[in-house]
Amino acid sequence: MARPLIELHVHLEGSVSPEMLRVLAERQGRQDVLGACLTEDGSSYRPCGDFASFLLLFKAVSAVVVTPADHHAVAMALAASLAAQNVQYAEVTVAYGVLLKRGRDPLAIQRALAEAADEARVLHGLHLYWQPDAVRQWGPDDAWRALEAAVSAGPGLGVVAFGLGGDELALPLTGFADHFREARREGLGTTCHAGETGGPESVRDAVLIGGVSRVGHALAAARSPDVLALMAARSVHAELCPGSNAATGVIADRAAHPLRAFLDAGVPCSLHTDDPSLFGTSLSSEYNAAAAELGLTATEADCMIHAALDASFAPDSLKKEIGARLTADADPS
Ligand SMILES: [Zn+2]
Repeated sequence: MARPLIELHVHLEGSVSPEMLRVLAERQGRQDVLGACLTEDGSSYRPCGDFASFLLLFKAVSAVVVTPADHHAVAMALAASLAAQNVQYAEVTVAYGVLLKRGRDPLAIQRALAEAADEARVLHGLHLYWQPDAVRQWGPDDAWRALEAAVSAGPGLGVVAFGLGGDELALPLTGFADHFREARREGLGTTCHAGETGGPESVRDAVLIGGVSRVGHALAAARSPDVLALMAARSVHAELCPGSNAATGVIADRAAHPLRAFLDAGVPCSLHTDDPSLFGTSLSSEYNAAAAELGLTATEADCMIHAALDASFAPDSLKKEIGARLTADADPS
């Protein structure tokens, strides 16, 4: 059996496989989306090349994930894929900001996702939780609406965190500090995409202004010993996504990912897929690629997976249960 894994950074819409995209596009009468998203033979997504193209691709895919039933189907397919990789626990980001912008009802969709999580637990023994996020470039007012919906859904529907994604260069984080504070007051964990296309100061702002306990990507922190030291001192967890960063062109290739800088600085971190179908990756292949291309040892990988569980927003009893399984089943290789 493969090493048990923990996934903390995966976007539901980014997990839509080409096969699923065809089904959803057919339902919506949006075959145009297929041509825009998929390669000529339809077997995979077109390479993004740059970050702006990636945002357009994500937008095109999310346009055909419409109804609660669509979301349920996507979640079940993701659950099957995660379970096949021996993922024990996953927090999945759901783009509440996008749903609201498109006039959809996040609560109806969240109820369908909660049902999917229940089914995934029975079918696969996989624990799925949800992390609604807001879109930074659409501003604080839209983000308040996303947060209100996330709070309404709450732990009863498996919502454990609130995040901020989108274009980190569009608006300063100061306009979102109150959102994160309010989310924590409501008992939600907080995460922020930062240092993906932005510089080290964007990661510093996520820590100092956002007060988040996890940073998505955090890539640029590696360019600043001070920001790495800040993350380490405050135990802010870095959700590293080398495959995604290579696919969106923010690093030249996987081998250019500064994983070692995070490990050397003592920053808690782990590997994640971000948008596995869009980037043609998986969590197990991220760990395998890091071993092959970045020299990640089996012991380091096991430490990262434990760190991911520690940084998760899982209920304490579940953390203990999964922690015991990680220790028992760690890959001896
Ligand atoms: Zn992401």
